[in-house]
Amino acid sequence: MGLVACQHKMNQPVTTESNTLEKLLQGNNRFAAAHPLHPDESRQRMGEIAKGQHPFAVVISCSDSRVPPELIFDQGLGDLFVIRTAGNLVGGLEIGSVEYAVEHLQVPLIVVLGHEQCGAIKAFVDGSEAPGHIKDIIDSIKAEPEISSIAKDDKDRLVHCIEANLRHVTLQLQVQSFIIREKIEKGELRIVTGKYDLEKGAVTLLKQ
Ligand SMILES: [Zn+2]
Repeated sequence: MGLVACQHKMNQPVTTESNTLEKLLQGNNRFAAAHPLHPDESRQRMGEIAKGQHPFAVVISCSDSRVPPELIFDQGLGDLFVIRTAGNLVGGLEIGSVEYAVEHLQVPLIVVLGHEQCGAIKAFVDGSEAPGHIKDIIDSIKAEPEISSIAKDDKDRLVHCIEANLRHVTLQLQVQSFIIREKIEKGELRIVTGKYDLEKGAVTLLKQ
């Protein structure tokens, strides 16, 4: 139960902090089993991290209120460096935040986390008109080559588009950031892609 690490593949042999993914997976198992420990929320922890932050993972997730990384991975203050946008989309500013975490804070793991029934991807699939800057989100999804390759009459189009968007963001981080690319090549950083099941509370890692 809980986190299913099927189809999991590492990008590179990891030489540092190889237990960080395991720590997240175990936390998600606790959450999905409704036995969270709520670690690192004490006054003592606040005092420790007031001196400086040492998060062990970057999580890029959707802004959706049902997918808060600290809760679903059962982690606490100072544990995760989180970037959240609708559809877990990233551009220059978001990638800059990730670079800060991996370059200055030496975070060894990035998790790109999507979820079922993602409203941003659903809006694109439905083809509805989007007002204001919401249109920017839809246009960004529409421009992803991975999304374009999904057939219009695909019976599971939403699911496949959500996974295509995750593959796109995971690749985009490596293509657009030489800092991230170099860290991966040196075996100092690893990127994994996960999808969250809203009903089970479980994260499944996707093949990369
Ligand atoms: Zn979403």
